[in-house]
Amino acid sequence: MLKKWLLMLMSIVLFSVIGTGCAGSNEAKKEEGKIIVTTTIGQIADIVKNVGGEHVEVTALMGPGVDPHLYQASQGDIQKLSNADMIFYNGLHLEGKMGEIFEKMGKDKPTVAVAEAIPAEKLLKSADDANAYDPHVWFDIDLWSIAVETVRDELSKFDPKHEEDYKKNAETYLQRLQEVKAYAEEQIAQIPEESRVLITAHDAFGYFGHAYGIEVMGLQGLSTDSEYGLKDVQSLVETIVSRNIKAVFIESSISEKSIKAVVEGAKKRGHTVNIGGELFSDAMGEEGTEEGTYIGMYKHNIDTIVSALK
Ligand SMILES: [Zn+2]
Repeated sequence: MLKKWLLMLMSIVLFSVIGTGCAGSNEAKKEEGKIIVTTTIGQIADIVKNVGGEHVEVTALMGPGVDPHLYQASQGDIQKLSNADMIFYNGLHLEGKMGEIFEKMGKDKPTVAVAEAIPAEKLLKSADDANAYDPHVWFDIDLWSIAVETVRDELSKFDPKHEEDYKKNAETYLQRLQEVKAYAEEQIAQIPEESRVLITAHDAFGYFGHAYGIEVMGLQGLSTDSEYGLKDVQSLVETIVSRNIKAVFIESSISEKSIKAVVEGAKKRGHTVNIGGELFSDAMGEEGTEEGTYIGMYKHNIDTIVSALK
C-alpha cells in the first residue's frame, strides 16, 4: 500500500518537474492556443501583455536591474527565443550584442524591432555617431505609442482571428499612456524652469528631456559600452557647481559608482549636490510591483525627478 502511494507521489513530482520545464510549459501554452512571445526589455513585454491580453504568453529576457547595452544572450535565452512564436525587441542597437541572434531568428518567425518602426525623422540622433539614433525611445510617450501600434498590427497579422481584441486592448492602453503623459506635463510644470536639468549616469533620458523641455546630461554616452573618464566627471562637476544644481540621479541598471564620483567632486568644490533618488532607465522594477509596469516606472521617475528638483 505504502509502496503504491510512494510510486504515485513520485510520478506526480516527476510530471510536475517536466511540466514546469521551459519547453514543456511553452508546449502546454501552445496547446491552449496562446501565442508564445519573447521580448528583450520589460517595457516591450508590458506592451505585448497589455495588447495581447489572454491570447499571449510573454517572457522578457532582461529583468530588473539588467543593462541591455551589455546584455549577452545565455543558452537559456536562445532556447526561449527559439521556442517563441514571435519576438519583439527594441532595436536601434539598444541590444548591442544580440544583432546576429535577431537576424537568425528573423528567418523563422516574426522578429520585430519596435523602435525601428518609428519614422526616422522623429528619432533623436546620437551625439557620438552621426549614423546612429538614440535607442531610448520609450521615454517619449508619443513615440512609444507607435511601438504599441506596431505590436498591435504584428499580433493582428500573426493571429487575424483576434484582431478585434488587439485593437480594443491597444486603444485602452494608448489612452492610459496619454493620461500618464498629461500627468507628467502637469508635474514637471512645478519645477522652476532654471532647475530643469536632469543628470544621470548615462544618456538614457534624451527623449524624456526632449518631450518635456528638460536639459539632460549623462556621464556616459547613449550606450554604457563607452567608458567614462576623470574628464567627464570634472566637466559634469563644473556644470553642477556653476549652475547651482541641487540633485543628480542614479539608475537602477547602472552602478552608482559613477554618480557618486560626481557628488564627491562637487563636495570638494564646496557644493552640495544630493542624490535625488533612483530612476528606472533601461530596466523596469521588480515584477509584481507598481514599478514593474511601464506606467508604474514612468510615474515613479516623474515623482522622483519632480520632488528632487522642484
Ligand atoms: Zn541605455
